[in-house]
This record gives sequence, structure tokens and C-alpha cells, in this order.
Amino acid sequence: MLTVEDATAQILARARPLGAESVDLRVALGRVLAEAVVSRREIPPWENSSMDGYAVRAADTAAAPVTLAVVGRVAAGALPDRALGAGEAIRIFTGAPMPAGADAVVPQEDVEAGEREIRVARPVERGAHVRPRGEDVRVGDRVLDPGRPLGAAEIGLLAALGHSPVRVHRRPRVAILSTGNELADLGVEPGPGQIPNTNTYSLAAQALEAGADPVNVGVAPDRLEAIEERLRWALSADVIVSSAGVSVGELDLVRTALERSGAELHLWKVAMRPGKPVTFGTLGHRLVFGLPGNPVSAMVTFELFVRPALRALAGLERLHRPRVRARALDPIPNPGHRRGYLRVTLSRDGDEVGARLTGEQGSSILRSMVLADGLAIVPGDTVVAKGDHVEVMLLRELA
Ligand code: AMP
Ligand code: MG
Repeated sequence: MLTVEDATAQILARARPLGAESVDLRVALGRVLAEAVVSRREIPPWENSSMDGYAVRAADTAAAPVTLAVVGRVAAGALPDRALGAGEAIRIFTGAPMPAGADAVVPQEDVEAGEREIRVARPVERGAHVRPRGEDVRVGDRVLDPGRPLGAAEIGLLAALGHSPVRVHRRPRVAILSTGNELADLGVEPGPGQIPNTNTYSLAAQALEAGADPVNVGVAPDRLEAIEERLRWALSADVIVSSAGVSVGELDLVRTALERSGAELHLWKVAMRPGKPVTFGTLGHRLVFGLPGNPVSAMVTFELFVRPALRALAGLERLHRPRVRARALDPIPNPGHRRGYLRVTLSRDGDEVGARLTGEQGSSILRSMVLADGLAIVPGDTVVAKGDHVEVMLLRELA
């Protein structure tokens, strides 16, 4: 059986970033930059005031207190209509261009203002309250690198540079297929012997959270032709994720259906719990995953294998969830020889983080995922004693 690390390495070796497309900056939030952005602008474009006050020559205030003649006025959006001479001040507002000849701004709260002159009580330094041209960005600065996820700050910077549209990686399209005769889909009351289809919806949500676009190709009954037909519907996707039907029972047809559809299967069975029978392959340029059917197994294997692959396709560099070292607040047992990914709730405990099992760890107990802040990673045949440290993969931000 493969280790999680070996399986991950095999998957990521085949997950190359998708091509680029140009999108309007207004809808670029969360997308991943596919170009280096080099500035063709200076920000700010000219020297300007950072305060409401008076533009002066610092040298004129050296002998303060002094009185200066107010000879003009300039607001943001206007240009100074004259230069500043010796012994003069120009009324100025935040963001307005500095008049020629001025080299400092005295904030208005630091002057006594008369009709046509101001009294400056203390000397001001050269450059005081002046924002130099290009202080933020110079022409030719490389401000963002490819692979950068676009958050609010990046969007703001690109807007300042007038950089729209922007080149970003295509979002991976993920076809989601559920299999099983027993499944009643959302909107249909399960009949006798039926259970609700859960995985299509949890996996689609996970795909969205990972920055991909899910496409639901429905539920296939446990018949080879039916599964193959759904796989054909999935061919427009970059990634195909199916769940269930990957064990060793005679109704476990997904692997055969994948092979008959032309997929090359690279791995099956990973030494982990939940989720041993995870299948990974390629179908042309597409990545295909056959996840186990139990709802928790499907979600956990998606977290471990599909999510990093989707992030790699999306062009991201940070593929994996962050981890923390937590202290077990109760014993955390992992019986059996496979590595455990155990659902835990986390709580802050001074400088430390405490971890406690969510309760029963059965792979069909979906409420354990609802409660889980993270997955505690425990070697096989091990009990993490109360008070000992355990590594936890975070599923959500720590409160
Ligand atoms: P299988 O791998 O097909 O034997 O499925 C394992 C378990 O997961 C069975 O109890 C299935 O009923 C259940 N299961 C499979 N697919 C789904 C699904 N889409 N939603 C909820 N449960 C499922
Ligand atoms: Mg089944």
C-alpha cells in the first residue's frame, strides 16, 4: 500500500497549471495571476501633500515663529497656478500637487491662520507631509509575480496601475460523478433501501472552496455502461471526481469503467483511514479521481489528494492546508495499522492549541466533519496520550 506522501507526489507530478485567460479586474478576486506585472506608472504620479495645510519652504520656517504670506490655493484634482517664492505659503489640501518651490507642508492645525497670512510657531523639516513621486511604485517595478492569488490588496494595486484586463490561470473545471444504485438525488425523497446522495454536493462545495468550477454529471447506477456514459459527459472537464464503487465488491465498477473509457490508472489503495481505496489516473490530459463512497472518506480523500491537485492546476504555489501542533486534551487512539486522519475540534489554550476528537470516527458519520476544525494525523497502532502533541491539518481558520 502507498503512503499518503507517495500518492500525493504521484498526483502532483501530473498536475500542471492550466493555461491563462484575460479577465476584467472587477471579477478577478480569488483568481491566480499568470503574468508578471511590471508597472508603467509612478504611484503617486507627482509630489503631493499628505495633509490639509500650507505648502512652504522649510528654510523659511527655520527662524520660527515666522509669518508667511498666503499667495494661493490648490486642492486635489487641480494644479497650482503659481510657484512659491521666499516668505510665501500656498493653501494646500490632501492629495493636491505640491507647488514648484515648496518643499514641506505645515498642517493647518499647526498654524495660526489670518486673512492673508499664517503664523508658523515651529520650524518644519524639508519633506514634512510631502509624499514623493513614485514613493509607492516606480515605472519598471515588478510589483506582482505569477502564481500570486489576487486578494483585495492586489486588486487595488492593479487598479492603481490601470492593469485591466489581467492574465490569470483558467479555473479548473471539475466534473463530479456519484455512483450507486442506492442513491436518491437531492429533491427526491429516498424510497425503501435508498439513501440521499450526499457526496455530489459536499465534493462540489469542496471544489468551489478550492477555487475550481464544479459540474454535476449526476448519479450513475452500478452498471458499467451507465458509468461510462456519465464519464463521457465529463470529458469537457479538466478533472473528474467520482465517488463510491472503488472497492473490491462485484458492484465496484468505477475502476473498470475508467479503464474502458481510456483512463490510465496510476494508483489505488493508500495507507490511510478513512479512505483506503482511493484511485487516481489520467484520461488524456485530464486527472481522474475515484474516491471512496462513505461521505467522510470522500471528503477526507478530496482534502488530501484532490484539493492540492486543483490548486496546482489553478496555478497556486501553496498547495497544502496549514498544520498546527496541538496538545491532545483527551487520548486520541488510532487502532489499526493505517495512518489516521481523525476529526478533531480545536480550542485555544493559552499559547497552545488543544485538540479533542469530535466523537465517533466512523467514515459515514458526516457530523464528525461538521464539527471538525482539523484532521489529527496519527500513525497506525498509536494512542496519542492526553497531554501529548499531535499534528493537525487545519480545515478552517482557528477561532
Ligand atoms: P461503496 O464504495 O460504493 O461501497 O460505498 C460505500 C458507502 O458509501 C456505502 O454505504 C454507500 O451507500 C455510501 N455512498 C456511496 N456514495 C454515496 C453518496 N453519493 N452519498 C452518500 N453515501 C454514499
Ligand atoms: Mg456502491
